[in-house]
Amino acid sequence: MKILLVEDDTAIATEMIKALRKEGFAVEHETAGKTALDVLPVVEPDLVLLDLGLPDIDGIEVLRKIRSEKLPTPVIVLTARNQTSSKIDALDIGADDYLAKPFDLLELMARIRAVTRRHNLQTSSQLSHGEVSLDLAAHSLTVGDKVTTLNRREFALLRELMLAVGRVKTRDALENSMYTMETDVGSNTIEVYISHLRRHLPKDFIKTIRGVGYVVPK
Ligand code: CA
Repeated sequence: MKILLVEDDTAIATEMIKALRKEGFAVEHETAGKTALDVLPVVEPDLVLLDLGLPDIDGIEVLRKIRSEKLPTPVIVLTARNQTSSKIDALDIGADDYLAKPFDLLELMARIRAVTRRHNLQTSSQLSHGEVSLDLAAHSLTVGDKVTTLNRREFALLRELMLAVGRVKTRDALENSMYTMETDVGSNTIEVYISHLRRHLPKDFIKTIRGVGYVVPK
């Protein structure tokens, strides 16, 4: 299941991403409202976790835009504001649930489970594209009927690429995604891990965009 997390507080976001990934969710993280709206139709998340206090446009506006475009994606709103008015605004506009900060991560997981049940969402922990399937809980890669267990870095790298099918991921973005798990990612290690991954993947599954990064083409 893919979750789009829109949260500008990096400390909170880092904790949430860690916890969500542990539950087997694929997480795409955006720190501003405009970029969140841009990636929404591309990422097609199953659920949006939306902070209301964003640096560019108000989270309420992001929610309004999502609902005005008739996107059915469930949205759980997160906010530091505990005024009843913003809570009611969010629910009126079509938020599915509401969590006031600071919240317990276990409570967040419970709310996510409740919303996914209500929407009958597939809580599968697989990211699939063509004959390639990545198990987010087991860290295993299945291509056709061949199963390979990936190490942490290979897994993190492929997860970022498969979460962004059709979008080029820059080397910087990929390095950052690996940094969140481990320290010291040298500049040529991305190439090394890409070449490891390619041994298990169909030809041209990961395309190199010279001087920029990599993409899993649609
Ligand atoms: Ca905020």
